[in-house]
Amino acid sequence: MIPFLDLHAINKRFEKQFQEGFRQFLDSGYYVLGNQVKLFEANFAKYCGTTYCIGVGNGLDALRLILEGYKILGKLKENDEVLVASNTYIATILAIKQAGLKPVLVDADFETYNFNIQSLRNPISQNTKAIMPVHLYGQLAPMEEILEISKEYNLLVIEDAAQAHGAKTNDGKRAGNLGDAAGFSFYPTKNLGALGDGGAVTTNDAELADAIAKLRNYGTSTKYVNELLGFNSRLDELQTAFLNVKLPTLDSDNSLRRTIAKKYISEIKNDKIILPTYDGNEDHVFHLFVVRVDNRNEFIDYLDRNGIGHLIHYPIAPHKQEALSEYKNLKFPVTEKIHNTIISIPISPLLSEAEVDTIISVLNTY
Ligand SMILES: *Cc1c(COP(=O)(O)O)cnc(C)c1O
Repeated sequence: MIPFLDLHAINKRFEKQFQEGFRQFLDSGYYVLGNQVKLFEANFAKYCGTTYCIGVGNGLDALRLILEGYKILGKLKENDEVLVASNTYIATILAIKQAGLKPVLVDADFETYNFNIQSLRNPISQNTKAIMPVHLYGQLAPMEEILEISKEYNLLVIEDAAQAHGAKTNDGKRAGNLGDAAGFSFYPTKNLGALGDGGAVTTNDAELADAIAKLRNYGTSTKYVNELLGFNSRLDELQTAFLNVKLPTLDSDNSLRRTIAKKYISEIKNDKIILPTYDGNEDHVFHLFVVRVDNRNEFIDYLDRNGIGHLIHYPIAPHKQEALSEYKNLKFPVTEKIHNTIISIPISPLLSEAEVDTIISVLNTY
């Protein structure tokens, strides 16, 4: 059996360093927003190439606090519209709703699983104030086109980089540094994952960074002086000790993921399986390797019989979710087809060559 993702194996590599990190954490006697968080914020900002990184509780909060921060700065207000891909993970949409703004769903493209750029202009109105591109499955959204549209209509660009830690444009800029601000998640399964929840905002905007640093901690910068109506969404000190251990391995893990993806793309040859489009560059960190098949249930049975792990990201489109029933009458044909046909196969950086070969041969004989 080849598991979809062996998180234990991924983290076991760091066991000694984690124990040392825990010991330092325990001995510090300082358990919330201490030196581990400060160190990580500095390192992750440097890694992304941004001036600021603010650790927060999780990826959803990272996105939500960016929007709340812009409300404080007067750049967004309640009911402003935010363009978001209709095939994203629901968290992107929830962040917009929780901040009191209005998500406007835009259909996707089969090639990129991202915004269809043609469809992105259509819904822009006077109320549209931001675009929230999602680097879905680890592949950068078409940022050049998105930034062009944002300039034309004066829109904020907020990256959902929760699946794309380390992804780089051809001129070397990383996810997190491609728009006005970005939200990251360090949920355990992400390319940079903690052993629990965690998230961060990256930005070059000093005022936004300052607002979010307060918002995550009850609206304070000085203890017991509340300047803003804040939240409690702090990046956990112990989780950050683990992230500090793992960050230096992110690039090599991403590179292993790309090597496996390239091998899949060159060696999986089966008309019944549609592979992702990928040009071989570092703009993709293969958080997931997503293929499409017509008879998905049949394919799933086949993978099960052959001991290959799999998951669907995601089985139900956001506009078909009960929680978002206000969107249920809208039609997003590409998104609907995507949700009915996609399936993710294993792409852990720790897959052995033999496992990769097995997966390829099983898919080729389907
Ligand atoms: C994981 C994820 C989030 C949310 O992150 P959490 O840490 O689970 O809150 C947001 N957007 C996308 C695209 C994600 O994959």
